[in-house]
Amino acid sequence: MNDCLFCKIIEGEIPSHKIYEDDKVFAFLDISPVSKGHTLIIPKSHSENLTQGTEESAADLFKTVHHLAPKIMTALEATAYNIGMNHGADAGQLVFHTHVHFMPRYAGIPRTFEKQHPSQEELAAVAEEIRQGME
Ligand code: AMP
Ligand code: ZN
Repeated sequence: MNDCLFCKIIEGEIPSHKIYEDDKVFAFLDISPVSKGHTLIIPKSHSENLTQGTEESAADLFKTVHHLAPKIMTALEATAYNIGMNHGADAGQLVFHTHVHFMPRYAGIPRTFEKQHPSQEELAAVAEEIRQGME
């Protein structure tokens, strides 16, 4: 039995604020964002981290990052972004399913990596703003 949180999100067993999905990759809002629109982009096939997955899975993941980054930026009028991955507990990895953090940044808003705790309604509104802006 697969007890992975992100596999359950992909399967829809645990709700998420979905931004994008195709046959290989899933993207949804981080529940504790460090910036407005902080998105997690994950491969559908389970691997603990980037190098435990296949090279093909890594390529598919970063193709989607390449595709989504400008779309999210435009939708939210972001001016910059950080991309991050944590590999292993000592690096701060909490969820052991490969994921890319995409963190939009905004002129005049200081960059922080401190987690915020918006309401579900606030997250839903940001997800909607991104989806609308991506159309
Ligand atoms: P990491 O520390 O790189 O493993 O990051 C895991 C991320 O998953 C953290 O930023 C969490 O806020 C985020 N997270 C944990 N549970 C959920 C969830 N149910 N929905 C969305 N994001 C989550
Ligand atoms: Zn998983």
